[in-house]
Amino acid sequence: MLGVAMGAVLDGVEAHVVRVEVDVSRGLPQFSIVGLPDSAVSESKLRIRSAVRNAGFEMPNQRITVNLSPASVKKRGAGLDLAIAIGILRASGQLPPATAPIGFCAEVGLSGALLTVPGMINLALALRRAGIHRVVVASESREHCIPVPGVDWFAYASLQELATDLLADGLGSPLAFAGSPFRDGERTASLDDVHGLTAAKRALTIAAIGRHHTLLVGPPGSGKTMLAERLVTLLPRLSDSAALEVFAIHQAAGLPTRPSHVPPVRMPHHTVTAAGLVGGGTPLAPGEVTLAHHGLLILDELLEFRRHALETLREPLVHGRVRLVRSGHSRDLPAAFQLLATLNPCPCGQRGFADCRCTDTEVKRYWSRVSGPLLDRVDLVVSVAPVDARTPADTFVAPTPEQVAEMREELTRRQPARSRTRSGATDFQADAKAYLEQLGQRLHLSLRAQDSVSRVAQSVSVLEGESTVRSAHVEEALMLHGNLGRWL
Ligand SMILES: [Zn+2]
Repeated sequence: MLGVAMGAVLDGVEAHVVRVEVDVSRGLPQFSIVGLPDSAVSESKLRIRSAVRNAGFEMPNQRITVNLSPASVKKRGAGLDLAIAIGILRASGQLPPATAPIGFCAEVGLSGALLTVPGMINLALALRRAGIHRVVVASESREHCIPVPGVDWFAYASLQELATDLLADGLGSPLAFAGSPFRDGERTASLDDVHGLTAAKRALTIAAIGRHHTLLVGPPGSGKTMLAERLVTLLPRLSDSAALEVFAIHQAAGLPTRPSHVPPVRMPHHTVTAAGLVGGGTPLAPGEVTLAHHGLLILDELLEFRRHALETLREPLVHGRVRLVRSGHSRDLPAAFQLLATLNPCPCGQRGFADCRCTDTEVKRYWSRVSGPLLDRVDLVVSVAPVDARTPADTFVAPTPEQVAEMREELTRRQPARSRTRSGATDFQADAKAYLEQLGQRLHLSLRAQDSVSRVAQSVSVLEGESTVRSAHVEEALMLHGNLGRWL
């Protein structure tokens, strides 16, 4: 007799639905699991055997074959224990066959107690994609569960308790949640707390509007790190679904996390390895670029980072995803982050701001250490000059995240006009377009650089509350883009 139960496993930050088929047939007593089980799945045989007995059922003294499909998915961890146990009880006629799809996501203990498994939200999202909207979890998983549209959670303390309900042909009532699961916290810092630096604050605002990758260049102590950390205060709140996606990623990565609409900010230490930055290892762990999905990746003191690690940023910067190939399988992880890096202008840190002690050759060599692919993708280079008490108070007032959200919507409304090439941008006034083309030729800007300037000009135009791009906007965008030249 065949028994079927559905479960899900985590692979990196992705989850895959697994169909558990159990066949109980006459023959020498034997218990085998096929379908690429790792050692944890094999160990689950011991746990399941005890759990079934301790829940008051019989472990069939027959030939038990468990097939986990699809076979191509590597099953790690103990998360399929419960689905396998239910499959055995169904195959041996001790539980009725499934009448409606249910996903079972728990480890079982020897006593029959249900235990929590990592990445609960991702497991539920995978099951939902497969049309399974009821998810059974361990009672102790409650704290990891949040409302997910289209998912009903059912929590049980033990296999016995669950089986009692399944015998009565139903599940109890789904978990009820009071209030919103999101804990957004209070904003504690703002760009307005920063004294002076008007031009840099304006540039950061433009970066926030267009999600432009940005490099902050200034001498040590000029406040570039403080500015970088405050960019998040300008960013619009994430939508519920984006916030859920971020929460699921962080939870699956085993980070202490709470669901929040505030975009994630990741600021890895400069000793981070390539695998730490883009992900890797066995089992597959997401990197900083994936943890910064929908948010900010801040690389403070860019040149302190290993060049090899920085080179790996090319792919996520271009595609917003990172592809990891491991034992013949490739996995795409989301990595749509905004990059914000800080850098001294030269080895002594003063070039362009005060007396620089470096030779031109030293400065050239210094800048050549910045990864080319990374510099290619930077849209804004912002100069951060030190301020002191004599700097007059500035009049810059940072927009609220809500205002930035509206400006982003305006950019999206212009989307049909936004194009990969400068000539396709129809929200440009004729003279602005001509100006950009003329400058592009004169300064030998690559197509990508022209596209970048064109996108930044659109953000400037939106910040100014205008409906088209004028020459002045192109000029400001070009100045921000071309700032790089001033240190070389
Ligand atoms: Zn110098």
